[in-house]
Amino acid sequence: MTATETAIGEPDWRRAADLVEGAGTLALACHVSPDGDALGSMLGLGLALARSGKKVVASFGDRMFEVPRLLRFLPGQDLLVEPAAYPAEPELMITFDASTMERLGLLAPHAGKAGELLVIDHHVSNTRFGTVHLVDPSAASTTMVAEELIHRLGLPVDRSVATCLYTGLVTDTGSFRHSVTTPAAHAMAGRLLETGLRPEELARELWDRSPYAYLPVLGAALGRATLEPDAAGGHGLVWTYVTRADRAAQGLPYDEVEGVIDVVRRVDEAEVAVVLKEDDAGGWNVSTRSKGVVDVARACAALGGGGHARAAGFSSALAVADTMAALRPLLTPPPSHLPPPHPHRTEP
Ligand code: AMP
Ligand code: MN
Ligand code: MN
Repeated sequence: MTATETAIGEPDWRRAADLVEGAGTLALACHVSPDGDALGSMLGLGLALARSGKKVVASFGDRMFEVPRLLRFLPGQDLLVEPAAYPAEPELMITFDASTMERLGLLAPHAGKAGELLVIDHHVSNTRFGTVHLVDPSAASTTMVAEELIHRLGLPVDRSVATCLYTGLVTDTGSFRHSVTTPAAHAMAGRLLETGLRPEELARELWDRSPYAYLPVLGAALGRATLEPDAAGGHGLVWTYVTRADRAAQGLPYDEVEGVIDVVRRVDEAEVAVVLKEDDAGGWNVSTRSKGVVDVARACAALGGGGHARAAGFSSALAVADTMAALRPLLTPPPSHLPPPHPHRTEP
């Protein structure tokens, strides 16, 4: 990524670099229930800084502080501390892939008390809740912004740092399949591969392994998938859910069901796909995906969540049917996409 291609101005890059270079201790935090981009951007920059001699702590504000099994291969996890051990009033706090202060969970109060708060993100919905912002909505992943900051700090990207950065890039682009897959995204992948990282090893960790117990849980979820051709303004909705009882019956941890949405979203007859996932405490996390007509970020934001136009989510305390009743009417295409004509509805 070059400066001309980013939405971030030179003064912001300079202020960010000055803050990082001037700080004694750096307190890093990514969004709750961290994904590959959240942990990848935080640990990638964290490792690069720690190797340059900086004192770095990193965390995320989940009550159940645990790195998802899928991401335990990431280097740099020795930088992680539990939220309870996180500095109460960090001199400089840096947030990753979090569009709002609330997405920091238990660490939001720490951000509120930080001397300086550097926000690194790529969500178009970012509320600019910091004192300095490196927010580039045209970046495919937060790791793209992190990589540029590493370069501007003059820090080397070795294979460990590259593994973290590549993980965010490859997960947020859906393995270079989504519309955010720009020439800049591929150029960054090329640079990272120069370090010797093995993309096939990463891909296997991220997508090509599950415990056997996943198969019956996936089967149950797929077996109750519902197609609603008239929903989403006539563009079609497919949805299903995974209960904690489904998982308990097989001894399957919550974070193993992240991939269910990737199967459900294949359905040709549906513009929008939704998977509701019940966590161990009985709350629901809802994943939504669209093929480009319906802005699911807008729908999810209206229900207290957020994300990107084609991939977004929210949390719900309601029962499955009630959550769907709240979501369904929000899945509307823009006026330029009138419902496709149904033959049985046209006037003779
Ligand atoms: P997921 O379905 O969990 O893979 O999330 C897809 C996208 O939606 C990611 O970019 C998340 O950052 C965003 N997202 C998911 N859940 C929430 C939430 N509760 N609040 C805000 N953004 C969310
Ligand atoms: Mn994320
Ligand atoms: Mn991201």
